[in-house]
Amino acid sequence: MDIDKIIPLPQQCELGQGRLELAALENLAVADALKSAEGLIRAQLEGDLGKKLGDGKERAVVIEHDKSVPAEGYKLTIGADGVKIAASDRRGAIYGVQTLRMASLAQLKKGGNASVACARIEDSPRFEWRGLEIDEARHFFGEKEIKKVLDLMCLHKLNVLHWHLTDDQGWRVEIKKYPLLTEIGGKRDKSQINGWQNREVNDIPVVGWYTQEQIKDIVAYAAQRGIDIVPEIDMPAHLAAAMAAYPWLGCRELDRPVAWYFGGSIPMSMGIKDWNRSACVGSPRTMQFIRDVIDEIVEMFPFGYFHIGGDEVPMEEWKKCPKCNAAMKEHGFTDYKQLHTHFINEVGKYVATKGRKLIGWNEILHGGNLANDVLVQYWTPQPDPRVAKHLNKGGKAIISKHKHFYFDMPYAQYPLRNTYKFTPYFGGINKDNVGGVIGVEGECWAEWIDSPAKLEFQMNPRLAALSEVAWLKSDKRCYKTFEARLDDYFKVLDALDVNYAKPEIFRAPKNPFKRGATIRAWYAKDMNIEFDRNK
Ligand SMILES: [Zn+2]
Repeated sequence: MDIDKIIPLPQQCELGQGRLELAALENLAVADALKSAEGLIRAQLEGDLGKKLGDGKERAVVIEHDKSVPAEGYKLTIGADGVKIAASDRRGAIYGVQTLRMASLAQLKKGGNASVACARIEDSPRFEWRGLEIDEARHFFGEKEIKKVLDLMCLHKLNVLHWHLTDDQGWRVEIKKYPLLTEIGGKRDKSQINGWQNREVNDIPVVGWYTQEQIKDIVAYAAQRGIDIVPEIDMPAHLAAAMAAYPWLGCRELDRPVAWYFGGSIPMSMGIKDWNRSACVGSPRTMQFIRDVIDEIVEMFPFGYFHIGGDEVPMEEWKKCPKCNAAMKEHGFTDYKQLHTHFINEVGKYVATKGRKLIGWNEILHGGNLANDVLVQYWTPQPDPRVAKHLNKGGKAIISKHKHFYFDMPYAQYPLRNTYKFTPYFGGINKDNVGGVIGVEGECWAEWIDSPAKLEFQMNPRLAALSEVAWLKSDKRCYKTFEARLDDYFKVLDALDVNYAKPEIFRAPKNPFKRGATIRAWYAKDMNIEFDRNK
């Protein structure tokens, strides 16, 4: 790609005279203050160039420490005889190198002569939270794919992986005190297929989880790439896999397997109305379980946040439960939503003792009694005025609005331009409170994503659009020129062997009837309709 057309686009790029022949590069020199970035940078450049680099400063990539450069930013100077990068921190140094890589990777991997135009770039991010969520509870992709995603995130200057490790359909992280969580909760023998409105079931087992050693290895791999990982352990609902392992977590002990359906139509047809019931928040034993799980989770994930989920919480069980009703009485609550928020606050207090802050989906605001330091993740398709209220009180939020950032949805419903044209100004978020929006995050829910190839298809090129929304100032964004840059960008993805949706898919059919037919098919009979067309 041309250096002035890379993704995400730099804030400022001035082209100079001449070009740098990459074959001329022989050295890498990294300032002492940024030495912790050298291992990654050396491995990436040597891998791209196909040769070892020395330590000299001639014909070199020279990385200097400059305290005047903004956090995560960099100044990059490409001359005919070498490259200079100035950064004040580790991520800035890494990102300067990613800019060079984005511009050269496709040519280098093809072999032959590769060059980049001489240029001066000054760059730094718009948002501090530039996230991507991967759901490994519904389907399990494994270590190799997660590392591939982390490599891709680094190249796109994204800095948070939100890892959804537990849900009704699977528990994917080893907890030593409760081994049945993975032994029972980490397996299911079949899955609902072909859309929420469909009742078809396959007979393919989904089995897998990460040991604590594997998690620590992946966390270190991410950290090396400037990426923090926030684990999501969804509760008090979305906990059916744990309840399959330990039925006493619920208000009633029921003998139920790990959920193999993704929505209500199948369990409702079997007469199970409480298929997504919550854990018993009035039970001291359940609360102790949650503290025990958190104790082990924070040991694996050093990042300063713990994602509690906290969304889609049915309260019918609580209304019939003596323990939950005793808790209601004890606190003088009149609405079970207050009990929900009380639970969130209790977990928040506990994770605070471990030096962590809580993140939860915006439903957790509904009790009106949520602690203000909880980071709210705004996802719901319906506008939620409580998010603006939370921001007005000085609270913070990440935006993952459904129609912009739900990457698991069909392109016919949410074409690529939806992601690119995101603006945080909606539902009461305005120039006075937008400062509380610390970033954006793309979501890859995996009910209907059953393979790495499909994960990459749903995610790309939405990830490119996300990275530009997260990085580039909004007045510099233009969808038309972004789309024009994608042809060259796809050569980068090809070089990295990454799957992606082609223009005829990500643009969505213009004809509304055709578009509607694809969406209907996706929900009711064939959620591979776009994936298969893309091949
Ligand atoms: Zn209960």
